[in-house]
Amino acid sequence: MEGIYTKKMVCPVCKQDVDVPRLKHGAYTIISRDSDLHPWVSGVNPTYYLGVICPNCGYAALESHFEELKPDELKKLLPLLAKKRLTGTKSITVERTWDDALFILLSVYEQYEVRGSDPYNLGYIAQNIAWLYREKKDNENEQTWLQKSVDYYLQAYETSADLPSTLGEAGLGYLIADIYSRLGQYRDALQWASRVVQMPKNRKKVLFDQLSRELWQNLRENYKSGSNEEVNWNTTIRSEIQSFFQSEGLLTSTFDKLIKNIGLWASGENLQYLDHLKKEDVEAIASFEWFDQLKDVSKGHKLEGDAFLIKLLPMGTEEPTVYLLPDAMPDSSAIVFTNKEPATGMNSSVRVLWHGYGFLKGTIQTLYIVEVRK
Ligand SMILES: [Zn+2]
Repeated sequence: MEGIYTKKMVCPVCKQDVDVPRLKHGAYTIISRDSDLHPWVSGVNPTYYLGVICPNCGYAALESHFEELKPDELKKLLPLLAKKRLTGTKSITVERTWDDALFILLSVYEQYEVRGSDPYNLGYIAQNIAWLYREKKDNENEQTWLQKSVDYYLQAYETSADLPSTLGEAGLGYLIADIYSRLGQYRDALQWASRVVQMPKNRKKVLFDQLSRELWQNLRENYKSGSNEEVNWNTTIRSEIQSFFQSEGLLTSTFDKLIKNIGLWASGENLQYLDHLKKEDVEAIASFEWFDQLKDVSKGHKLEGDAFLIKLLPMGTEEPTVYLLPDAMPDSSAIVFTNKEPATGMNSSVRVLWHGYGFLKGTIQTLYIVEVRK
């Protein structure tokens, strides 16, 4: 077939020669690319030729790694190959069809999982399988394989697996963002896109910087106009905060600032400022966890300190007094609500009752409720 030649390789399992088809230069022309870099081509489809399968023993691998098989991987693989032998292997000609391509890539994927291959390769194969389904307009299977792909890509990112130099950390981050967006998981998509945007310029390729910015923009527009998930999430937080302030007889500029901060977190603009926060932290901030804790602890007690907080909390008569944001730790026994990290230790008279992130006085800060014993 035009555009293809064969090269002999040795199967690392059965040691037979295998005719491996390879693409000549110019075997295909890229007409366009999807946002996840999937190419639409005229000529030979390169995705059909990513994998190789040994017609003798059924060993399958990526063409680029066909002859690489470590002894411990071979050990893991042998029972699977023995089973395959019983069911017979599929004979595949040099000129491959869509069905051949799917069969080979599914075999490679299965064997790489058994071998415990590195997560980047598994993600890459899953993504190529998803692409095959996309080319057939089989949306359901495409989504299934995109999900597998992003799961492995996340593992690859977390374990800093060896990545192709053409991709790098930024490229992988971008792919994760794009796949999440294709799966309708927009919040994760936004976070990953902004992660790439915020990587130092010298650590990423111009292409991925640009693609991530475009994706980020699109997602923000969608986010504003409404994927259900994001709209629900946004309105829940908004109405919670609103009803809290209203129940306290207050609707101040603090509300707007909080919305702005939470909103910015979601869109990624403010990520650098907040990027040490986990999702749970942000939820704690949005639900005013610190205020609920403070209300519980201070119930019935005398209050001292910050005038704004005194207005929000019911005043009681019980000792010890609850000090709200004092400049210094009190000398007598007390309960203290503070944004300064308290000195605690083996012999300390200070015990932390609660700590976490909270929105207070226009910013997000670490807040503590401590008990002082004298
Ligand atoms: Zn073989």
